[in-house]
Amino acid sequence: MASPIASITPGSGRAEVRGWVHEVRDLGGLTFCLVRDRTGILQVTVNRKKAPAPVLEALSRLSRESVVQVGGAVQAMEKAPGGREIVPDRFEVLAPAGSPLPLDVVEKVPAELDTRLDSRFLDLRRPRVAAVFLIRSAVMGAVWEFLTSRGFVNIATPKLVAAATEGGTDLFPVAYFEKEAFLSQSPQLYKQMTMAAAVERVFEIGPIFRAEEHNTTKHLNEATSIDVEVSFADDLEVMGLLEDLVVSVYRRVVETCPDPLTWLGVDPEIPRKPFPRLPYRDAIGIAAGRTGEPLGFGDDFCASAEKALGEEMGVHYFITDWPTAIKPYYAMPREDDPELCRAFDLMHPRMELASGSQRVHQHDLLVHQIRSRGLSADSFEFYLRPFRYGMPPHSGWGLGAERLVMTMLGLGNIREAVLFPRDRHRLVP
Ligand code: ATP
Ligand code: MN
Repeated sequence: MASPIASITPGSGRAEVRGWVHEVRDLGGLTFCLVRDRTGILQVTVNRKKAPAPVLEALSRLSRESVVQVGGAVQAMEKAPGGREIVPDRFEVLAPAGSPLPLDVVEKVPAELDTRLDSRFLDLRRPRVAAVFLIRSAVMGAVWEFLTSRGFVNIATPKLVAAATEGGTDLFPVAYFEKEAFLSQSPQLYKQMTMAAAVERVFEIGPIFRAEEHNTTKHLNEATSIDVEVSFADDLEVMGLLEDLVVSVYRRVVETCPDPLTWLGVDPEIPRKPFPRLPYRDAIGIAAGRTGEPLGFGDDFCASAEKALGEEMGVHYFITDWPTAIKPYYAMPREDDPELCRAFDLMHPRMELASGSQRVHQHDLLVHQIRSRGLSADSFEFYLRPFRYGMPPHSGWGLGAERLVMTMLGLGNIREAVLFPRDRHRLVP
């Protein structure tokens, strides 16, 4: 039986390991072969005068990144990784790797992100890259656990839909028998509809598809959204929930992922609650002041404005009290000042992480808001129906999983947080 490499110690006696050939070096009569698995690296030392013929035969056709199985006596060796080496009596090539390699796994030659993504299977053999996905998995587990521990029910809403959530143009059309359909850009309408079903607290972690053409370091055409919706909650309650979730996910990653964090060389600082709440009006003022751009009430934050605000704030923060006109029709206008609505964005100093709001739950107001956006209420009939039969007040948000991971780990490009990213130019692999 083969053992994980990290478990091999000088006292292991005879051991068998399986892994990839990390490096081969010939020194006089000795060949040193480093074998790597997901747990570590082991030096295999072959004395060419003493080694059995089958071992020498395997060595003679060894290429880097081939998969091998090696068995032999374990000895202490101060200069080897982990202070031990194995002297093989068995050396088998289970699967040879062609050469040259399309990507240097040992990272002696730095590669562009595009080259790395083209050969993602090799890229992922680097601990620093694998670390991102081990941590992403821990993030998703922590989100799941946090929400279920708060009584949330996991739901799955359709990804093939007939209507756009917000009427926008950023939709991917698909052929759906004799009809036109789209890939869902957000579970928004469906998660709201479940609020009429007395479930009270729902969450979904699923793909969202956006046909945005722009090419940025924080947009994907297929992303993962962490969505929640809560009956009888207002905007402030779900902001508190979001803040609690972010802090608990950071804490969990720091507690459970020490090794991947070390491989990445990052030490995420756990955000402190409460996150500052910055009303939109103040935020626009600060952004205008710092960028010198003519930003005013009703403008959205462009990339430079977002950056300037982040520099000013320095920590996670919320932008609240948005103009009703620039938030979606389902955001609840304030009763005392309908120009403003109960919407919020959760911001990391580098970018937006989440958007949410208290929702309009009154049918007629919702129809009015849909029409005021120049949309037809008819195409939203399936969504509007539950609002005529007892729809509780409710609030919710959508949080981008990739942006959460990217900002936590200080990744430069959102594509680094996705195994096989989809962007304007990338559909393969
Ligand atoms: P942005 O203005 O940054 O493009 P948005 O306001 O259009 O984002 P929302 O519709 O509010 O995005 O979606 C909620 C969250 O989902 C965002 O805050 C973000 O974290 C994530 N998200 C949305 N679109 C994308 C995308 N194209 N790529 C990656 N994440 C996304
Ligand atoms: Mn948003």
